[in-house]
Amino acid sequence: MPRSAFGNAHGPDAPVARHLSWSGLKRCLGARFARGNVAESRSRPRVIKKVSVPLLIVPLLVAVALARGPGDEFAGFETLRTEHTLAYHLPGDRGFAKAATSAVERAREEIRQQLEINPPLTIKIYLVRTRWRLLQLARSSLPPWVLAVAIPGNQSMVVDLSKVVPLTPNDIALAVRHELVHLSLGELKREGMTGIPKWFEEGVAVWFSGCRHLVYAPDLDMAIAQNVTIPLASLSDSFPTNPFLARLAYDQSESVVNFITQRYSAQSLPLIISRYEELGDFQSALKSAIGVSAEELDSQWQSSQSRWWSGVRWVLRRFSLFSFLAVLCVIAFLLVRRRGRKKKLKWEKEEWLEQLDNCGSQP
Ligand SMILES: [Zn+2]
Repeated sequence: MPRSAFGNAHGPDAPVARHLSWSGLKRCLGARFARGNVAESRSRPRVIKKVSVPLLIVPLLVAVALARGPGDEFAGFETLRTEHTLAYHLPGDRGFAKAATSAVERAREEIRQQLEINPPLTIKIYLVRTRWRLLQLARSSLPPWVLAVAIPGNQSMVVDLSKVVPLTPNDIALAVRHELVHLSLGELKREGMTGIPKWFEEGVAVWFSGCRHLVYAPDLDMAIAQNVTIPLASLSDSFPTNPFLARLAYDQSESVVNFITQRYSAQSLPLIISRYEELGDFQSALKSAIGVSAEELDSQWQSSQSRWWSGVRWVLRRFSLFSFLAVLCVIAFLLVRRRGRKKKLKWEKEEWLEQLDNCGSQP
């Protein structure tokens, strides 16, 4: 019994055999192809007159689809390669690809100097334009405000260009610097090591890059002034998904990392990281490097923040050029009104004195 191209056995009278059967396919493809089996084909009833062209195309398309590797899911994407970076981008995003690759090349050396760790030798950057692509490549659920994500196991990062805003904390160059820190810290992780707390990893990434994912949120100063900061212990394993709290978590983590560099020394960060590499436990590494636990560090940071000054700073930062001009207008109005009142009083006084003189001169 002949077997069809779809792998199902059919008798000579089966309807599907009229469209596609092994013997019919051989006839269609020519006598040369079927030369070795001529006797076989002659011995079978001739039920196939012709093969449907669409049904020939379908298996070819299936074969092409099966032959496509994982990288082919980026059909239509172009690539840009530099010494240590390979960027995948859409044809219109060549400029972003150049900015991203050159930022990575520059940041590699800075990470070596400032954190004393080595970034992965080769990094892939996927520049996408939809959240769907971002999630597809990240292979995990992400909050809607996520701008970029690092995939340490794959030495790659994905940037959602629809959220990139040039010359802001969401600039493409800052975003790739942020993710490069994650990839570089990811290189340290080995079996048996405790993870690096989220507040430290994100804090170092923001401190190094300036990129925060979000451009809207309550100010850290306001949170300090109102005493509503987040305890570091609750930022160890994950960050809030709420955009306002997430921005506060990023800002606060950066502030704590900055506090470490100022309270202890600029070399504290590479020291903590190298001790973590040696000991395999972050809490022990922190204690060994700067002599305090995470809880003690949190209370040191809390007590270093002045609630009063944070409130004043928050108010001052709300002053834009327009609000400054508005205040000037109010002051000018008050001055003009005061001057007008003085003139009016002066005129009234002069008038009164004149009337008094006139009264005195009358007989
Ligand atoms: Zn991050």
